[in-house]
Order: sequence, then structure tokens, then C-alpha cells
Amino acid sequence: PFDVLVIGGGPAGASAAIYAARKGIRTGIVAERFGGQVMDTVGIENFISVKYTEGPKLAASLEEHVKEYNVDVMKLQKAKSLAKKDLIEVELENGAVLKSKTVILSTGARWRNVGVPGEAEFKNKGVAYCPHCDGPLFAGKRVAVIGGGNSGIEAAIDLAGIVSHVTVIEFNPELKADSVLQDRLYSLPNVTVVKNAQTKEITGTDKVNGITYIDRESGAESHVELEGVFVQIGLVPNTDWLGDTVERTRMGEIVVDNHGATSVPGVFAAGDCTNSPYKQIIISMGSGANAALGAFDYLIRN
Ligand code: FAD
Repeated sequence: PFDVLVIGGGPAGASAAIYAARKGIRTGIVAERFGGQVMDTVGIENFISVKYTEGPKLAASLEEHVKEYNVDVMKLQKAKSLAKKDLIEVELENGAVLKSKTVILSTGARWRNVGVPGEAEFKNKGVAYCPHCDGPLFAGKRVAVIGGGNSGIEAAIDLAGIVSHVTVIEFNPELKADSVLQDRLYSLPNVTVVKNAQTKEITGTDKVNGITYIDRESGAESHVELEGVFVQIGLVPNTDWLGDTVERTRMGEIVVDNHGATSVPGVFAAGDCTNSPYKQIIISMGSGANAALGAFDYLIRN
């Protein structure tokens, strides 16, 4: 059996595997797609001490760094279920069962897509999901934010300080965000809020040039010219496969304490799949290190 088995090969998982392996203990890592969300990223400008890098390059360095150590890397493998017996058992989709004294869950998350024409086509060409990451790319330009929940309104307030104008598009008749955020939003001069509107299409040629929406009451169609669209309708953790085995929030995020420990002894979690409030590369790496040290501490006590 492994001492530490990491499930997920993004920044959190890579960091956890390296920290575990550096303790000289038997470490394995299972990753459906090594690199995780980083593989979908073009420019990265907030990975501190690296002024600029690109997703696939960072993903390759993550893998190279992991392979410096004695880590059993199992790529293109998907975990299907987890059970706590004498050891913790993780079953893979291919039927194999891996056993370990501790497990670190780092299966990340994915942004929910609006699923309209233009979204996939213009990803990284005006369609963005992370205001902390891509906001500065739209300095002085016009953008829309799709989604009027807390993350959408936080994004709109954040972007309003950088871009020239923000149009918020909310599907429902009212914004769902906390009232303190709504008050702040409505106090800003360069924000327009459109409610009860269904996004129909993100338009463009080689990059985004506008958005079309339908007023759900009148059926009237409107088109706004702009340069960027931030989709903010939810970040979904990749945790369904865990069912009720570990405690998760209503949103499906794995609940962890400050050692990265979950509700199941010996099972730890790190990165975007957890209830950590902010989801970023540098934060995921820190939390992967934290969970590995938590797991090591658990091993020497049990
Ligand atoms: P992930 O990166 O999501 O990795 C999850 C890993 O788990 C993957 O290897 C996946 O294949 C694997 N996995 C999932 N389910 C299973 C399973 N059942 N079995 C086995 N393996 C599984 N952050 C920044 O800091 N700066 C940026 O500029 C930036 N830009 C971004 C741009 C885009 C388009 C996106 C989508 C995200 C961006 N982010 C950025 C966010 C950042 O990528 C994430 O916060 C970070 O990758 C989270 O790391 P993670 O390891 O927790 O999860």
C-alpha cells in the first residue's frame, strides 16, 4: 500500500505529491489529466516570482518536478469511489483498487459554461472565467459579466475598477448576490445591470465583439458591443464521485480543517475541490503542501 495517495494532478496534487515524497514515504498520484485547469489557461501573470508563463508550460514543469521524486505517477486514470476500511481504498474506473494509509483529494473544479454559441469558440479570445486572472487584460475595455450571484457581482465590482464599462446579465428577475454587494454595485457609475435576460450568443470574428441577449418578458433581442465576457455562473467541484463518504458543502466542496483534514480520518483534501474561499494556482499549491504535511503528521501519530 501507499503511505500517501494523491487523487488529482493539478497544482494542488503536484504540490502534495512532492511534499509527501520529500518525507521519504511511499507516494502515488492518480491524475485523469495532469496539469488540471492549468492546461486550459493561456497567460498566467499571478504565479508569484514568475512574471509570465503559459498553462501548458507550467503543467509540464509540475510534472517534471513530481518526476524528480520517487512518486508512482498514474496518468489518464480516473478515481471512481473511495472507501475507508483498514486502509483507504480508491477504486479506479478501470477496475483497479489502490490502497493507502492516507489519501489526499485534489480533484479540482470546473467553471460552469453558459453553453451559448460563441462561448467555446472565443475562450481565451475574450471569453474569460476568472476576474483575478484575466481582469487586467481588459483594462479600459467594455465587458459583460454573466451571472448575478455573489461571484458575478464580486467580479463586476472588481472589473468596474479596471475596465471602462461592465454590463451585468442576470437570468432571473432579481440579482441573487448579498445586498451589501448589490448596494456597492449600484453605487458604481460604469455598471449597467440587465435582469430577466437570457444570453443568446457571444458574437465576434477572431475575438469577442459583443453579446446578444433576450428579454425574457418581452422576448425582445438586444445586442451590446464589447470586448470581453466573464462567465460567472458557478465553479463546480469534481467531487460527485465521493458521494457521502466525506463531508461536502451544499455546493459539493470538500470540507477541510486547517490541516487539510476531511471528516474521514486519514483522508485529506486540497485546492479547488475544497471549501477554501479563493481558487488560484498559488493557493492550491499552498494547500497541497499543507495537506501533505497534515497527512505526514497523521501517519507519524497513527
Ligand atoms: P485542478 O487544476 O482542477 O486539477 C484537478 C486535477 O484532478 C486534474 O489533474 C484532473 O484531471 C484531476 N481529476 C479530477 N477528477 C478526477 C478523478 N475522479 N480521478 C482522478 N483525477 C481527477 N489561477 C491563477 O492563479 N492564475 C491564472 O491566471 C488562472 N487562470 C485560469 C484560467 C482558466 C481558463 C481556468 C479554468 C482557471 C484559471 N485559474 C488561474 C485557476 C487555477 O487554474 C486553479 O485554481 C487551479 O488549477 C486549481 O488547482 P487544483 O489542483 O486544485 O485543481
